[in-house]
Amino acid sequence: MTIRSTLGGVRRKVLSSLHRRPASLGNCGPMVSFSFDDFPRSAYTVGGAILEASGVRGTYYAAAGLMNESSEVGELFHSDDLHSLLEKGHELGSHTFTHLSCRAVSASVFREDVKKGRNAIEKMAGIPCSNFAYPFGHVTVASKKSLQPELTSCRSIFPGVNGPGIDLNLLLANSLYGDLDQSKRAESLIAENARRRGWLIFYTHDVRPTPSDYGCTPELFEFAVASAVKSGARVLTVGKALTAAGLELATSGNGTPPRRLEQIASPPCN
Ligand SMILES: [Zn+2]
Repeated sequence: MTIRSTLGGVRRKVLSSLHRRPASLGNCGPMVSFSFDDFPRSAYTVGGAILEASGVRGTYYAAAGLMNESSEVGELFHSDDLHSLLEKGHELGSHTFTHLSCRAVSASVFREDVKKGRNAIEKMAGIPCSNFAYPFGHVTVASKKSLQPELTSCRSIFPGVNGPGIDLNLLLANSLYGDLDQSKRAESLIAENARRRGWLIFYTHDVRPTPSDYGCTPELFEFAVASAVKSGARVLTVGKALTAAGLELATSGNGTPPRRLEQIASPPCN
């Protein structure tokens, strides 16, 4: 083990233990969610179509300032994509406005960018979007603390299976990158999730035949979706998985006072 990976493990432990917003999945698992960050158009046109073909839906974390731009993950979303994916039953989440790393700025600047990003997405989409993903997967103690009252959930890129206890300020998620040579890894995560009756969240970016280093091929994505369905897990958006666990959505950030999530005593899927 290298010094760097040891330090990474220590950092993850500290960040996982502080400023938690604990909730319980109850007996709701196994559940699997597929999410896309930034997000590139191929995540919707290709990834979304694969999900829809299996009768399931995904969560798209959009950084509003990236709209109509292009990056190494390809052409990024257009405003029409937001409406179109919502009509099909997918979920929109936010991802800051400028795709900002919380390691690069103060907690207050980060929080403002998170708020601006969420407000912009909510304005364009016309509905509340209170699930969030940390850009670059960067999390700091200060950012974790500062975001907690305002968002329903904050998704990290810390790997693992969520549940039975989950941290709404730091949902665990696993990359789905590359081609079919990565199918064993996806398959074993899905099997572990089924065994533990947990909540497995995947994240990726572009879905195309020659993906970026942060995306996957349609074949790998199709394999993971089919395996998740076959495992007997319910494949749900992040928001629907939280609702299944009896977690009420927070109010919109537009002028209304932030409200803590309430978990009812017995999740409805018991
Ligand atoms: Zn991102």
